[in-house]
Parts: sequence; C-alpha cells; structure tokens
Amino acid sequence: MKHYIGIDIGGMIVKAGIVNEEGKIICKDICQTFPDKHYSVMVKDMYELCVKILSDAGLRFEDISGVGIGCPGTIYAEKGIITFANNLNFHDTPLVDEFKKYWKGDAVYIENDANCAALGEYLFGSGKGSRNCIFITLGTGVGSGFILDGKIFAGKMGAGAEAGHMVIRIDGEKCTCGRRGCWEAYASATALIRDTQKAMAKNPDSLMHKIAAQYGKVNGRVAFDAAKQNDKAAKQVVKRYIKYIGCGVVNLINIFRPDKVLIGGGISNEGDYFIKLIQRYVNRYHYGGKINPRVKVVRASLLNDAGIIGAASLAMNK
Ligand SMILES: [Zn+2]
Repeated sequence: MKHYIGIDIGGMIVKAGIVNEEGKIICKDICQTFPDKHYSVMVKDMYELCVKILSDAGLRFEDISGVGIGCPGTIYAEKGIITFANNLNFHDTPLVDEFKKYWKGDAVYIENDANCAALGEYLFGSGKGSRNCIFITLGTGVGSGFILDGKIFAGKMGAGAEAGHMVIRIDGEKCTCGRRGCWEAYASATALIRDTQKAMAKNPDSLMHKIAAQYGKVNGRVAFDAAKQNDKAAKQVVKRYIKYIGCGVVNLINIFRPDKVLIGGGISNEGDYFIKLIQRYVNRYHYGGKINPRVKVVRASLLNDAGIIGAASLAMNK
C-alpha cells in the first residue's frame, strides 16, 4: 500500500499526517506556526514534523510516494508559490522549493486549503461517486473548492473559485475583501454572530440571551439552539441565515449544476437539521424547478481531518 504525507498550514498550527492510498490517516501530529517569523523557520518546523510522524509510524522517507501541502490564500500551484496569504504573512513565498531543501523528493505539491479539502471529500468523503462537486466551508469566512470533471478548478495562477466573494446584495454589508454585500458577509459564522447579536439587542426577552450566557459569549450556535427551543427571534435569524446560504448555493448550482454540494466548516456541525433546511431552499429555487436534475446538498464528512487527507490526496491525484 502506498503512503503519502498531507500537511495542513493554519494561522496557529501546522498539522501533518501520513495517509494511505485509501484515505486513512495512520499517524498525525501538529506544530505551532509563527507568522511573524521568516517563512524558512516554518518550513524547517514542517520538515521536522514530517520526520517525527515518519518515525512514529515506523516508516522511512522512501515509503512516502508524495507530499501535499494545503495553505490558505492564493496559491500558484504549478510554481509551488504562495502568492498571497494574509494571516500568514506570505507574499510570493516559494514554499515548495524551500521545503525541498530538506525533503529530498520531487513529489511535493501545494494548493489552496479549501481546494485540497474539496479534493479529499471528492476522493474519500461525501463527494465520492460524483463527477462534479462543489465544496463550501462555513467558518470565520466562506471558503470554496470546485472539483470539475474530477479535477480541482483553481483558475488563473490559482486565484480562482473564491465563491465567498460573489455579491448576493448590492451595497450590502461590508466584506473583509473591501467590497460590499459578498456572500461571506452573510453566510459566514462571523456574519451569523453579527446577526444574532443584532436580534438579541432588539429582543431582550429572547432565549438567545440565556443561551449566550451559558456559552459565555455569542457564538454561531446560539441562534440555532434557541430556534430549536422555538424562540421566535432566533427562528427568524436562522431562517434568514439559511436564505443567505441557500442563495449562494443556488447561484453556484445554476452555473455548474454539480452532482453534489458539500457543506463543511464549523457551522456544518449543526448537522442534518441544518443541511435539510438548505436542501429545501435549493429544491425550491434552483433553476429549472422540477425539470432540471436535483442537486444533493450533503454535509462534508472528513471533518477535522479534511485538511490532512485533502493535502495528501493532492499528491495521490498527480
Ligand atoms: Zn468579499
């Protein structure tokens, strides 16, 4: 059986794991990232993390068929360069070449982390069996990855497929990208928290206050929890939030008509109840009504391991 290493770079930590060709993680570990230090420091730490997991798994360098790296931001995959990753302070960073100074193998690949996760889900998760699938991650922002005809679609120099920054409302809420009304400004967990807070301010008797106090803060679960207990204001927040998510999902379906839309990220932990609400919206509003094929909305299934498995699957798919 072939083995691969998947490395998932985040703002706080780097995760790395050895993944077999069936998409199973056999060993994993993490190390810290220091975005304020030169990137070469992080790359060296990444390499040492790989050495450690190899030793933990009782494998040798020769046993690894390839290394995949997933990183947030704009990734020029062909050149192995991170063009831009805001939170990590990367600008035209030749990460793959730097890694190859330590790792003496040619099969090292890099891609945007959401693209990696999409590929991982497509090969080993809930995207299995589809030809075209779109992966959406609802967290602090809205990330997306497109698998078209079995391949990652990344656009020119890897800057493509940022579905979170399509506008769903002209002159709407301000987005982190500088534009107004982006999908991310309505469908992210950050947006849900903002809207929950607004509704709480208007509804001092809402159950949301009690639930937020139990959590010690307003998080993405407060409105959902209260809505399940029939709180009127919370139900409105959830209803509108589903509309925002659904609007963007339907826009994407109308363009690509994929086999499946996969929903991941922290908010997807709301589970079946949440996915069903999006599915209902999609069934109602997708172009072509009862005539065009229906598109399944499913929860992404690799969860916390999506980053590692996705990055490793990048090396497998070459
Ligand atoms: Zn934006």
